[in-house]
Amino acid sequence: MEPSAQTTRVSVLLPYKFDTAFTYAADEPLAPGTLVRVPLGSRVVVGAVWDDAPDMAVKVKPIAGVYAVPPLPETTRKFIDWVAGYTLARRGDVLALGLKEQLLVAPPKRAKQFAFGGADPALPGPVLSPAQEAAATALCASVWAQKFEVTLLDGVTGSGKTEVYLEAVAEALRLGRQVMVLLPEIALSIQVLERFAARFGTAPAVWHSELTPAHRRETYRAVAEGRADVVVGARSALFLPFPKLGLIVVDEEHETAFKQEDGVMYNARDMAVVRAKFCACPVVLVSATPSLESVENAAQGRYRKLDLPSRHGGASLPKTHAIDLRQAPPERGKFLSPRLLAAMRETLERGEQAMLFLNRRGYAPLTLCRKCGHRIACPHCSAWLVEHRSHARLICHHCGHTIPKPVQCPSCEAENSFVPIGPGVERIAEEVAEAFPDTGALVMASDIIVGPAQAAEAARRINAREVGIIIGTQMVAKGWHFPLLTLVGVVDADLGLAGGDLRASEHTVQMLHQVAGRAGRAGAPGQVLLQTFAPEHPVIAALLSGDLQEFLAQEAAQRRPGHWPPFGRLAALIISATDERMADQAARDLARAAPRGQGIQVLGPAPAPIALLRGRFRRRLLLKTTREIAVQPLLRDWLARVEVPRVVRVDVDIDPVSFM
Ligand SMILES: [Zn+2]
Ligand SMILES: [Zn+2]
Repeated sequence: MEPSAQTTRVSVLLPYKFDTAFTYAADEPLAPGTLVRVPLGSRVVVGAVWDDAPDMAVKVKPIAGVYAVPPLPETTRKFIDWVAGYTLARRGDVLALGLKEQLLVAPPKRAKQFAFGGADPALPGPVLSPAQEAAATALCASVWAQKFEVTLLDGVTGSGKTEVYLEAVAEALRLGRQVMVLLPEIALSIQVLERFAARFGTAPAVWHSELTPAHRRETYRAVAEGRADVVVGARSALFLPFPKLGLIVVDEEHETAFKQEDGVMYNARDMAVVRAKFCACPVVLVSATPSLESVENAAQGRYRKLDLPSRHGGASLPKTHAIDLRQAPPERGKFLSPRLLAAMRETLERGEQAMLFLNRRGYAPLTLCRKCGHRIACPHCSAWLVEHRSHARLICHHCGHTIPKPVQCPSCEAENSFVPIGPGVERIAEEVAEAFPDTGALVMASDIIVGPAQAAEAARRINAREVGIIIGTQMVAKGWHFPLLTLVGVVDADLGLAGGDLRASEHTVQMLHQVAGRAGRAGAPGQVLLQTFAPEHPVIAALLSGDLQEFLAQEAAQRRPGHWPPFGRLAALIISATDERMADQAARDLARAAPRGQGIQVLGPAPAPIALLRGRFRRRLLLKTTREIAVQPLLRDWLARVEVPRVVRVDVDIDPVSFM
């Protein structure tokens, strides 16, 4: 339809796979950010009026309607453009992270949590220690000043970091501003939400993938209208349309869960800093085991650092010891050494609780035919299937492919010849049940504790002393506070050190230190026992001494000369295709056209460590540059120069965290 002379033109960005905004006709000028319905092919879809100049030359269709929702603020639109430019994603894909048609469809019923005034910063806070008080005062001053500033709040486990940043939250609320708190696994962070409720008299709004559609709609609307004053969310909360954001907190800033590994590949920790800059507000990065990136930023004066060097309330840090499995191995076919079992027994006799940590779900990571040695692998991935006895299945942890455990070996046809090799948490639970038949045990793993209700029930059972022994994967490393837990046993402290990933050592130290930090948080002193075959390894040595600063200094010394992050920049190209030769060919073509120059290095192509994933063959190239070189222009130019067949996918991962 030809628009009439009275109409005006607007650019509209659609939350779909388009980088460019489309031009539509409107009866009246619409402010940028206005949410509209527009025709797209035969459909009518949601879109946002964007700041781009409309195309005056083309024939255009009229918009179909305007949503009665506040427009996306300018800070949100600028942020979306910036994230797309940084990650080389299409702007529509970035818009889609925060805007979906379902969020706007029906006028929501006002849920009561947003109808009466919200959080009350005037409620009295807890009594803070002098160190906490000093840190809280510094953070409140930043909030009050309402200017961009990054603070790294580095406090040992149990030092009361949450209480400190809640005071900054209170200050923002007193100023009538909104607050965003990012957590790595919000759906399971029951205890953190409870602390918010205790401080402010009401639970915060939450934003994560497990919410019902109605709940999401109401939360989106409440954020956009400024009624939701505190939002605790997963990484996608970054893209909510806050009109008056006054503070961002990133808790557990070192966590790799902040990195989105598919679609738009962004690190929510780093993007939170950018978001704060656009909103001219402070951002606080919180951790007991800060990333080398953040520590280096603090050392260079880009971030301010505040320290909480001791535990709150007089509790002391747990003592850590290694159990050398070469000298004191477990019984044959078992995984818990006599010394660890003895320590567990003593702990339980004192009426306290013990936790065993093994970052491996399921019963056994490998199933092997004892007649012919055949191993059961996933047909779609280069990975072994993992036995899960709780589901009576073998499951691929990469693609979810699952089969019942075979009775007959497909290779040698022997019957009942399959044996489990190595432990997962379910197998440890079996060993615990044999050794402590009268003690309640609980397995905490992401396939067993699913969602907030089950996490809350697990916490209740532990605090009600129905559980004496907790057996957990990385799920237990974060945020939990169990006052009676005094012993942490790490079943395999060496797990995670193999693989040669750039940050394997750093991540292992962070995870095991966080797990260790669950011990002895109340009065009784805590103890940590690390089962290891390599007590002299720098990672184990750092955990034994507790000197994480020294460990990070060693890491820095190793990475600096080669310009590895954070002393240089890194981007990965992941080339994949269902046809192996096509993946290889495209990878070789890209390698031939790789950018060259001073301070630029391209590594690969090489088969990815997971060379086959969900039926696609994968090759990797790594672009490494010195810090002063921006990788995005190099990548844009590089990708534009190579013609890759449509069936070959090239994913760009800026600042990669996973090298799989
Ligand atoms: Zn698979
Ligand atoms: Zn066999």
